[in-house]
Amino acid sequence: MDNKRTMNFGAGPAKLPQPVLLAAQKELLDYNGIGISVLEMSHRSSDFTKILKAAESLLRELLEIPDNYKVMFLQGGGTGQFSAVPLNLIGLKEDRCADYLVTGTWSSKAAKEAEKYGKVNIVHPKLDSYTKVPDPSSWSLNPSASYVYYCCNETVHGVEFNFVPDTKGVVLVSDMSSNFLSRPVDVSKFGLIFAGAQKNVGCAGVTVVIVREDLLGKTLKECPVVLDYQVQAGNNSLYNTPPCFRCGGTAAMERLSKEKSGMIYDLINQSNGFYKDGDEALEKKFLDGASKLGMISLKGHRSVGGIRVSLYNAVTVEETQALADYMTEFLKEHQ
Ligand code: PLP
Repeated sequence: MDNKRTMNFGAGPAKLPQPVLLAAQKELLDYNGIGISVLEMSHRSSDFTKILKAAESLLRELLEIPDNYKVMFLQGGGTGQFSAVPLNLIGLKEDRCADYLVTGTWSSKAAKEAEKYGKVNIVHPKLDSYTKVPDPSSWSLNPSASYVYYCCNETVHGVEFNFVPDTKGVVLVSDMSSNFLSRPVDVSKFGLIFAGAQKNVGCAGVTVVIVREDLLGKTLKECPVVLDYQVQAGNNSLYNTPPCFRCGGTAAMERLSKEKSGMIYDLINQSNGFYKDGDEALEKKFLDGASKLGMISLKGHRSVGGIRVSLYNAVTVEETQALADYMTEFLKEHQ
């Protein structure tokens, strides 16, 4: 049945697995025999409490989250966290300084937001374009920074960290919105991890925040209460009405992720530059042809153009193969 659906390679909100959608469809009429859906039930009810607890314990199991970390499901998206992170953490040290690695659109936006609340140090030399992670030997980390921030996978520019930055003991914060749960992560290396759910784990509206307990309580006075981690953690994410819709081992996801991205990257690298050199007319032809085959959302982000393929967890190997086959045919026809 899944094969008959449109193949969605979009960057988010992204494809959801068919079994999740079918279960959600059924549960929209009647959740667990109680006669109403999760969208209609009180967030204080025992049924919703069970859903929330199950989601948290599943996440703890998948990422092996240590007990001294709080897990929260919040509103406000990744963008909300661009503000929440400095509002909650920049006061950890008196200087109110934070180090930012800026490797693309999203970390750049996060750094700009943090400048409202303290001093921001961009740790590497200025970049002309966002194509790779600057060599760690060029970074100048500030040992008195309250935290070091980076975006683990820059969704617009495609720059992904394949290592965890060594911050020499300074608290590490990561935006993992677009590669969350696509591979195992040693949570204990981080002070805070956040991820919008709409790419790999669920639907837009839920943002997962995992934070080490000892970092709570240094929130700036001006922090809106809904963004205050201590308040939200103290209320088990239920200080106000939470986003109530269902969310769905990381090692298997990593293997699949590598297999899928290998299929597309190998083809790009073997295309003698065909899939690297921009050509707007050909791109349009490529997108039209893909759409006729039921493949959508392959257009690059409006700020950079080109073609973009997002291979989040719910995109199957078969769908990736179908795209690779189409790319091979297109190359033969147009090279
Ligand atoms: N961070 C990353 C890495 C993203 O890809 C995005 C959105 O695509 C965001 C943050 C912003 O998320 P939101 O739209 O949920 O605010």
